[in-house]
Amino acid sequence: MPFDDFRLDGRVALVTGANRGLGQGLALALAAAGADVVLLGRSDPAETTARVQTFGRRAVHVPCDLATAGPDGIDAAVAAAMDVFGHLDILVNNAGVIHRAPAADVTDDDWHDVLTVNLDAVFRLCRAVGRHMLARGGGRIINIASMLSFQGGVRVPAYAASKHAVLGLTRALANEWAGHGVNVNAIAPGYMATDNTAALRDDPHRAAAILERIPAGRWGDPEDLAGAIVFLASDTARYVHGTVIPVDGGWLGR
Ligand code: NAP
Repeated sequence: MPFDDFRLDGRVALVTGANRGLGQGLALALAAAGADVVLLGRSDPAETTARVQTFGRRAVHVPCDLATAGPDGIDAAVAAAMDVFGHLDILVNNAGVIHRAPAADVTDDDWHDVLTVNLDAVFRLCRAVGRHMLARGGGRIINIASMLSFQGGVRVPAYAASKHAVLGLTRALANEWAGHGVNVNAIAPGYMATDNTAALRDDPHRAAAILERIPAGRWGDPEDLAGAIVFLASDTARYVHGTVIPVDGGWLGR
């Protein structure tokens, strides 16, 4: 059968923030393609776990609050994740937070809260899982970037800075690790209907302005990321390094 290389049977994926939103969609796509999943996060991913099991795959929760874990806590969580199935083939850094306020009103705590989850934790997870993948001779890391990896956004300065940095980190790690069989890439979702964008969708003016600017004419859904994540996680992406796939309904091209 053609396209067998897209299958992920026997692979183990660690997905952060998969109890809801895009992370849930990413975990389900990986499971549908054949992967078992470790769901790392601070909330019980009961719904995601049950839905993964409908694909005949296994899902295990590793508790970790990425805002407070610190480097040692994240190393311990990764060690626990590797203990579940014995190894990790795929890391998806999805968990993220957003703080909406004019830049002049952003406190140091606000700034720190966003950068800790969206950037520090991403680096620490890449470092811990990357060491394991380098030792095994291969793996896939997919970081969830954003339109605000390319654009400044509206009153979300810490988020925009963090997502620009995620793209820079993705490229930096790819430069180092591509020659060792570890593929590091990113997906940049456009405007997706999740809790992250609830405030925008609740604001009639912002909601209308955003929708008018999306060439596809609709907000994205978690399921829209399924093809990109399975591609980047699979053997078909073996020669893809340090790139970002926008899944944005045409937003960046406009
Ligand atoms: P969401 O619905 O708000 O979900 C965020 C996820 O991150 C939740 O699972 C949440 O867990 C987890 N998380 C937040 N803080 C955490 C912490 N301290 N420790 C562990 N997990 C934590 O947002 P989403 O839209 O799915 O966003 C997922 C990713 O896509 C984020 O990186 C976001 O920046 C990015 N993104 C989203 C959009 C969009 O339009 N929605 C566009 C571009 C990029 P809890 O349930 O425990 O809070």
